[in-house]
Amino acid sequence: MSNRTFTMIKPDAVENGHIGAILEKINSAGFKIIAMKYTQLSLEKAEKFYETHSDRPFFNELVTFMSRGPIIAAILEKDNAVEDFRELIGSTNPSEAKEGTIRNLFATSMGENAVHGSDSDENAKIEESFHFTSEEILS
Ligand code: UDP
Ligand code: MG
Repeated sequence: MSNRTFTMIKPDAVENGHIGAILEKINSAGFKIIAMKYTQLSLEKAEKFYETHSDRPFFNELVTFMSRGPIIAAILEKDNAVEDFRELIGSTNPSEAKEGTIRNLFATSMGENAVHGSDSDENAKIEESFHFTSEEILS
């Protein structure tokens, strides 16, 4: 079990003005932000980030969406971070996300689902270093 996970506040949630509310949920749930940036993915970077999904039918839509506007990228610290953060964000499909989860509150569809959360410690490490250098992580 590692104590870090990686998140993005996706373009839909930024466009809809939910950055502040989502960061508040993250803080209230006991996560400490140890790195954060406001940035925009190029189409190429979005394709690289989601390359494990490149064979899926939704891939083109996903990478077009993820590169269409700014995002927040952040590294979060907490005991059991990966699992606890997946619990906080809720199911991929917002209609199945539990009440009070970030996706239940802020997602608009299966594709435009407000936030990303790493699905394993291994992927959290890969995703962290995709977005941040060690000097940008202030734990
Ligand atoms: N996605 C989609 N359609 C689907 C499944 C996923 O558009 O049928 C998008 C959605 O934005 C999701 C992302 O692809 O967050 C990555 O999918 P994954 O299965 O990894 O879901 P997550 O880990 O984000 O819950
Ligand atoms: Mg995933």
